[in-house]
Amino acid sequence: MASVFSHAVAALGIGACFYRPRTPKRVWVIGALCAVIPDLDVIGFGFGVHYGDFWGHRGFTHSLLFAALLASVVALLAFRQAVPGFSGFSLWTYFFLAIASHGLLDAMTDGGLGVAFFSPCNNTRYFLPWRPIRVSPIGVSRFFTHRGLEVVKSELFWIWLPAALLVASGWLIRRRSAPSA
Ligand SMILES: [Zn+2]
Repeated sequence: MASVFSHAVAALGIGACFYRPRTPKRVWVIGALCAVIPDLDVIGFGFGVHYGDFWGHRGFTHSLLFAALLASVVALLAFRQAVPGFSGFSLWTYFFLAIASHGLLDAMTDGGLGVAFFSPCNNTRYFLPWRPIRVSPIGVSRFFTHRGLEVVKSELFWIWLPAALLVASGWLIRRRSAPSA
């Protein structure tokens, strides 16, 4: 995995493309939380689930279908009332992209097994051809090592920086297109 914070940051960066001035903040908070949920699959390690299994790490919870299902559940349950500036479809699309970005970023890491994007139809694990992100250790204690520092540096550069650029670009575009007083 990339670390949980970076997945949340990626979701916030994607959110910048959907930003509307009156959007309630809980949309972004829930989007960031949703982007972390696929990694709950690590709980399975404690119950004897193997990494490469259907429910293993980077398995079904990292698939596109899981992203679509979770996005639907969240959009239906958490946002039954209309959200200002959002159609139901654009809200779903934001949550879908926020969750699907998780698997995409994991597939850009340089370790572990690949991501089962097409589970449950096909449990083959895939990486992207380009994998610049250092894989994050599973477990907090191993984070505070030299390798942990390398991971933080690579995530800052490949995830946090692009997310910040998206947020800044969105802000600049809105500023330029706002009618001058
Ligand atoms: Zn993951």
